[in-house]
Amino acid sequence: MDVVVPEEVEKEKEESLEQEGGERGASPEKEKKRFFYSKKVCRFCTGQIKKEEVTYKNVELLRRYIMPSGKILPRRITGTCTKHQRVLVAEIKKARILALLPFLAR
Ligand SMILES: [Zn+2]
Repeated sequence: MDVVVPEEVEKEKEESLEQEGGERGASPEKEKKRFFYSKKVCRFCTGQIKKEEVTYKNVELLRRYIMPSGKILPRRITGTCTKHQRVLVAEIKKARILALLPFLAR
């Protein structure tokens, strides 16, 4: 009779983690708030702003999406989704041509 010896298979896990830099003791949770903007949700998708409202005539709305200098705010700041940003930008450009919005404000 063969004696069955339970084989203990030990897998040697060699986790060699190479630490690349980061040994300066800098805390990763350190974040600087560069700009203050409210929550990033597409206001057009959520229904806060209706599709019909996005026209070149609605200067007050469009003005919220441009900088004081007249530049169009990027999506990452306003939180507008790609689809609606494109519509928005098109309307802003129309408004600019009609001199409702500035190309460049001083
Ligand atoms: Zn959207």
